[in-house]
Amino acid sequence: MSSLLEVSGVCVTFDGFRAINNLSFQIGPAELRAVIGPNGAGKTTFMDIVTGKTRPDAGRVLFGEKSISLLRRSEAEIARIGVGRKFQRPTVFEDQSVADNLMTALKAARGPWKVLFWRPGPADHARVLELADQVGLAAHLARKSGELSHGQKQWLEIGMLLAQEPRLLLVDEPAAGMTLAEREQTTAMLVDLAKTRAVVVVEHDMEFVRRLNCKVTVLHEGSVLAEGSIDHVTADPQVVEVYLGR
Ligand code: ADP
Repeated sequence: MSSLLEVSGVCVTFDGFRAINNLSFQIGPAELRAVIGPNGAGKTTFMDIVTGKTRPDAGRVLFGEKSISLLRRSEAEIARIGVGRKFQRPTVFEDQSVADNLMTALKAARGPWKVLFWRPGPADHARVLELADQVGLAAHLARKSGELSHGQKQWLEIGMLLAQEPRLLLVDEPAAGMTLAEREQTTAMLVDLAKTRAVVVVEHDMEFVRRLNCKVTVLHEGSVLAEGSIDHVTADPQVVEVYLGR
């Protein structure tokens, strides 16, 4: 399988401190991957590199055929070529309905120039329904987003990201603060989304990672310490020492 994202030999230094140290990482076009590691392992910096927020001082990042690291692309440009990032805290428009939030996201996905003259048509209303359905909110389209539960707001934000049709979705601790039922629904949603795009989940919660039932990459001191199934990595003595044994 050829990879969608290829990070090779990437280094990032902050004031002389190597936060990312010769990191190499690949993900396929329709793959679900969990990235774990102790605090300070470099997980956030890794996402910052892939979204163009942080520039590597060495190495290269390829997304599809395009280079993220060499051409000095802006974060907006990287988002347009297909990288979507879901931060931990949902940032939905609380006064708007679920449908309006999704429509706003569809509008924004048109790019800055087309937005001015854009009016939603039947295809856009159908797309809103489809997005709501993908994130389990089809029954809540008319509800004000501010009235949704924490988990539902997280899903709405994922739906808004999907409006951009990302080929890679980076999701930071999606299950944090969710009820058990919401966590189960989130697991199923992420597994489903990864059938047609790459999904990288950065997560602390090992039980949640186990349920994702996907390949796991363990980061430590800015490099890959171990990679494989959850059972494989949790049996690795080095992983136990740096992460699980704490
Ligand atoms: P994680 O998300 O796994 O907790 P981070 O990527 O946030 O790890 O951080 C990796 C390392 O880089 C940490 O030691 C952190 O203190 C350091 N770091 C991250 N961002 C900066 C920054 N802007 N300036 C200095 N050090 C930073």
